[in-house]
Amino acid sequence: MLHRIAFRCDLAATSVEDLRRNRDSGNVEGMTAPLHPDTVAVHGGRSDLAGLGVHALPIDLSTTNPLPDIERGGDSYEAMATGGRPPADGSMVYARLWNPTVARFEEALAELEHAQAAVAFASGMAAMTAVILAHTGATGARHVVAVRPLYGGTDHLLGSGLLGVETTYCHPDEVALSLRPDTGLVVVETPANPTLDIADIADIVRQAGAVPVVVDNTFATPVLQNPIDLGAAMSLHSATKYLGGHGDVIAGVVACGEHTAEALRRVRAVTGGLLHPLGAYLLHRGLTTLPVRVRHQQESARRIVQWLIDRPEVAEVFYPGLDGDPRGILERQMRGTGAMIAMRMRGGFAAASTVTSATRLFTHAVSLGGVDSLIQHPAALTHRPVPPEARPAADVLRLSIGLEDVDDLIADLAQAFAAAAGDADAGHSEPVTPSASALRGAVRS
Ligand code: PLP
Repeated sequence: MLHRIAFRCDLAATSVEDLRRNRDSGNVEGMTAPLHPDTVAVHGGRSDLAGLGVHALPIDLSTTNPLPDIERGGDSYEAMATGGRPPADGSMVYARLWNPTVARFEEALAELEHAQAAVAFASGMAAMTAVILAHTGATGARHVVAVRPLYGGTDHLLGSGLLGVETTYCHPDEVALSLRPDTGLVVVETPANPTLDIADIADIVRQAGAVPVVVDNTFATPVLQNPIDLGAAMSLHSATKYLGGHGDVIAGVVACGEHTAEALRRVRAVTGGLLHPLGAYLLHRGLTTLPVRVRHQQESARRIVQWLIDRPEVAEVFYPGLDGDPRGILERQMRGTGAMIAMRMRGGFAAASTVTSATRLFTHAVSLGGVDSLIQHPAALTHRPVPPEARPAADVLRLSIGLEDVDDLIADLAQAFAAAAGDADAGHSEPVTPSASALRGAVRS
């Protein structure tokens, strides 16, 4: 399709990148405005398809690749093992070093994130591990500053000592104070899992100074937020979530500058946490509908938030902007508020437990960002490995809003709330655990 656009424009442009370059230099007749994200989502990473004579994304399952001769094979190996790309006259050598199906997805994601490059991994945690390894250890740094709250797995990885780093956890305003001479990385998640806390990316980048900042952009997606435009060195995704969007791929990806991409590809080649091409194919296909999915899910989430606010069973709702955005952060850094919601149940853990068992359309399951709605209890599951003082409270539930009809979703929550109220009336309710409010305070701090 891009080939046809280029042909019509009578240009040699064969990719979105070419098209944008030509347009920016005024070469494309009739195209004066920048390409919109919806267009990039459909066309990104497909520059070589017309040349291959195909329209759908090809899947290359080769684990090894023919070598033109020993010298060029060796040079290719050397180039990629140190984080580079395959030389034009060389070979991809071995799939742990390079795969074209994965590379196309990376190119598309990089474009959506306004980054020079992207590097894909076997999971979001493999991506975070590579980011930490690339910025500590061999670089001489062994300290990380992490803004809480974070996804439980990330919080645990940083605190576990498994990767040989020490971590200082802090509030978004304490990043500068937490830096040490051996700090190699600042980690922040915004909106954060599970309570949708918002951190000011540009301010954190300013506080971090020369230390690179990685923003976990999983909840926002590039549709709603581009951390690199705000000065972050890296935008990381659990691609398992919105990017894939259908609950059938585990993957991670980091959008960044080419120099950082080289360091990450080197870690990936050595440690082997690479994305399988079948997963890359599904993710790339998933990107085409990402903007439409996110906007629709967000619209439903806003309706559900309005409904939840008025419900007597709900003690508190967490959703970006509900506090009125007093520091103007949302206004500056996001183009929307997303489709993740958290809430505190007035009936405490007992009510939360009944609601998760009683929903019929919301599947009681971890993960998020897919076409179907999910509900889960962070303290027991996604945030279980977080130390008690920073763990979400026992009365908190997290909702991921899918593409079902919003009235059906509201009806499902209403009947689940009624089930919880019925339990309480029958005397099955337990009070909120005494430590719950203390935990809640800790996770917000
Ligand atoms: N970051 C966030 C915000 C997440 O929610 C998750 C998983 O839930 C991860 C990272 C880890 O990603 P994965 O499960 O793909 O390893």
